[in-house]
Amino acid sequence: MIPALVTALALAAPADLVLRNGTIYTNIERQPRAQAVAMTGGKLVYVGNDAGAAAFQARRVVDLGGRTVLPGLVDAHAHLAGIGAREATLNLEGVRSLGELLRIVAAEAARKPPGAWVVGRGWIETFWSPPVFPTGEDLDRAAPRNPVFLTRADGHGAVASGKALEIAGVGARTPDPFGGEIVKDRNGRPTGMLLDAAQALVARHLPPVGAAEAERNLLLGVAREVALGWTEIHIAGNDWAEVDLLRKLYREGKIKLRIYDAIRGPSPDVERLLRQGPSIGEQGGRLTIRTIKVTIDGALGSRGAAMLEPYADAPTSGFLTQKEPELAAMFAQALRRGIQVETHAIGDRANRTVLDLYRGARRAVPRGERAVADPRFRIEHAQIVRLEDIPRFAELGVIPSMQPSHAIGDLHFAGRRLGPARLAGAYAWRRFREHGSIIAGGTDAPVERGEPMIELYAAIARRDLRGYRGDGWHPEQALTRAEALAAFTSWAAQAAFQEKERGTLEVGKLADLTVLSADVMTIPEREIPKTRCLATIIDGEIVYQARDFPAPIR
Ligand SMILES: [Zn+2]
Repeated sequence: MIPALVTALALAAPADLVLRNGTIYTNIERQPRAQAVAMTGGKLVYVGNDAGAAAFQARRVVDLGGRTVLPGLVDAHAHLAGIGAREATLNLEGVRSLGELLRIVAAEAARKPPGAWVVGRGWIETFWSPPVFPTGEDLDRAAPRNPVFLTRADGHGAVASGKALEIAGVGARTPDPFGGEIVKDRNGRPTGMLLDAAQALVARHLPPVGAAEAERNLLLGVAREVALGWTEIHIAGNDWAEVDLLRKLYREGKIKLRIYDAIRGPSPDVERLLRQGPSIGEQGGRLTIRTIKVTIDGALGSRGAAMLEPYADAPTSGFLTQKEPELAAMFAQALRRGIQVETHAIGDRANRTVLDLYRGARRAVPRGERAVADPRFRIEHAQIVRLEDIPRFAELGVIPSMQPSHAIGDLHFAGRRLGPARLAGAYAWRRFREHGSIIAGGTDAPVERGEPMIELYAAIARRDLRGYRGDGWHPEQALTRAEALAAFTSWAAQAAFQEKERGTLEVGKLADLTVLSADVMTIPEREIPKTRCLATIIDGEIVYQARDFPAPIR
């Protein structure tokens, strides 16, 4: 009698939502595939076959018709406000020539009163012929009556018009600020290009972003992210003002996306985080603030990445953008307080410096004095690393947080910048795996497009979107499909201390899932970027669905 009773109870088990007849990848080795899932109260209560799922008394049942389900995808490195701002202001993504850029600027200036700023983002000269930076004079010709400020796609450089430089008081005699460069021509005059910290000289004169605009940017960013299939993003650096705005939007029910937040520093905001300690799982488990974001060098494209040896194509080695002693004290305090640190490091000198600083902090604060024994400090990008430094990541428990799309964009110029020898340790995913590292996968949107299918493709194919593999670009460093999936699910979860709640599809874990139009684990590589998100499920709720997502049968 007792077994029968148990069966009867199981038959009556309620569920909010059942997805059945799917191609479901669980990201667990012992049971990699499933047909159906049931969820209730925001958690998975069943992962198995259709027959088992039929036992649930579900409020809603969707027959997936074989469509693919992955554990809810996570972008481990994104800039949410920037994604929204790119949607809302002059979006210069995909501009194919200097001429096209100037036509867009002229048209935008014509829509504005004289003197009003023209602000844009997303241009990149890599594919222009010739591939040279625009100048302030170019912009003055296109918009003679308006100051112009256009940020390069990577965010590590911007071009300002002559009018903009004039407003900012930047001239031939203005010295480079610490951690930045005012690019000058042969006669010592600023060209308009401002690298890294030098961008602020002009940026601080831009009209301030009002509260309404900041809110709009965040909501535009969130809408784009869930439509792409992201269930969580790690924000790579913001401040308390933005966190407070996010909290307000969560309370108003306007954000469903989960956010794992890092506060940018060194700054008074980081000091406040170190005083207060982490805030884990607020807003019903959707918002966590426990990380400090630091940027220690520039980017490869603008030759601001700090290298141990000079670039192959210019007599410069880049520069560090932070002072080491200040960071050492901050990192040690973070260990005491249970705060995670993630540091942007692109060049091999920057990566080595950060590893040394992390090791120093671990020595200064032994396990017994740490709030969290395994602090999971991260290095964001870890792009160009000396081969002897790669094993140090795993030894020090440092997680490389990498963006596959950077590798397939940079393959067009990294060889020129670095020369062949240094490419062995560039975007070296396979080597990191061989030395025992996991890789947290991210997009760095809006620096890159921020689309999960482009990232999976880039990680697996290690070719650009046209199929080009680069010259000496180490195809053997590509990830397997299973590894690429892990990078954007379970490994991203581990980088956020969330592996117990998410990253795999298992009973008891969060009901966060991404439904796709094609089986990215088996289709030809070139088909992956064409795959679309059909539905995004967060906490058991369908927060986004495409028009061709199947209607519920019940
Ligand atoms: Zn970034």
